Amino acid sequence: MRSGLVDQGVMGENGGISAIVPDVSVVVPIHDEVESLPLLLEAIASTLASNQISYEIICVDDGSTDGSGDFLKQEGQIRSDLKAVILRRNYGQTAAMAAGFYYAVGKAIVTLDADLQNDPADIPMLLAKLDEGYDLVSGWRQKRQDGAVNRLLPSKIANWLIRRTTSVNIHDYGCSLKAYRPELLADMNLYGELHRFLPALAYIEGARITEVPVRHHARRFGRSKYGIWRTFRVLMDLLTILFMKKFLTRPMHVFGLLGLISMFSGTAIGIYLTFVKLAFGEMIGNRPLLILAVLLLVTGVQLFCFGLLAELLMRTYHESQGRPIYRVREVVAKNVK
Ligand code: UDP
Ligand code: MG
Repeated sequence: MRSGLVDQGVMGENGGISAIVPDVSVVVPIHDEVESLPLLLEAIASTLASNQISYEIICVDDGSTDGSGDFLKQEGQIRSDLKAVILRRNYGQTAAMAAGFYYAVGKAIVTLDADLQNDPADIPMLLAKLDEGYDLVSGWRQKRQDGAVNRLLPSKIANWLIRRTTSVNIHDYGCSLKAYRPELLADMNLYGELHRFLPALAYIEGARITEVPVRHHARRFGRSKYGIWRTFRVLMDLLTILFMKKFLTRPMHVFGLLGLISMFSGTAIGIYLTFVKLAFGEMIGNRPLLILAVLLLVTGVQLFCFGLLAELLMRTYHESQGRPIYRVREVVAKNVK
């Protein structure tokens, strides 16, 4: 998060950025949504202005080919409440959101989709919840308006899996409408399709997380950018998250342990084979067990070495970026140095 980017200290025509630090930065990733954009900007502006919430809208054009980028550039020159960030090509929703976070300066950050499926009218409610002392408030599309078989079912399964494995107890990870404290986002790095795991990543960073039911509408223009394949990518990302949650700071505990078990079993089988060969003179050259023993030994050594390498990498990961292995919520003391 970078500060001091917005220096317009006046109320814009659209009632937008009214102070140096707006109450909220609304981050919208956009890929080919030109028909929705005018309606979207209007909806966000009118909701927030009528609730006396000062705001900036950060529209990130993620390599659109339908003129969304040109529209945003035009509007960016006219409106004082809009920052148009144009990416060079299509990087995907996660990257587009990360770009938006980088330019956001607000006291809170809200993300939502550009296709009007999320309702900007829900933003004040999310912000109110955030003010109750949460670091992340996630929307829950109770009445989701998407296809039943190709979207709802995979998403139900994925949500169940994520809930079971990440111990973040919310219903709808896929909902883009979420509100964050900026400090939280500054602590997180996004890769892959990890935006839907932001609650899980936030949990790793020790955040207070909650959810509120939000409205959801069917798509009015264009098509969804995703199909059934997304489910598999989500599952792979889930594995990454799981590993990060449990073993980020101690990879040797998982690789080392597996390696040792494997080496130990390999050695045990080897000793047994040596014994039957020497004591009973049995042929062991053509026994499948011999192959298993060798395989276990080799994989065991590899896993062990992998764990050592992972330990080194983990240290580089934390130290090169000055990332502590803990997060402090607050320090209460009469004299803090
Ligand atoms: N999006 C994006 N880059 C992409 C794909 C999607 O910025 O490569 C944006 C898209 O414009 C929309 C949001 O991400 O604002 C969610 O996409 P979509 O509505 O297609 O997903 P769904 O609602 O079907 O899950
Ligand atoms: Mg959508």
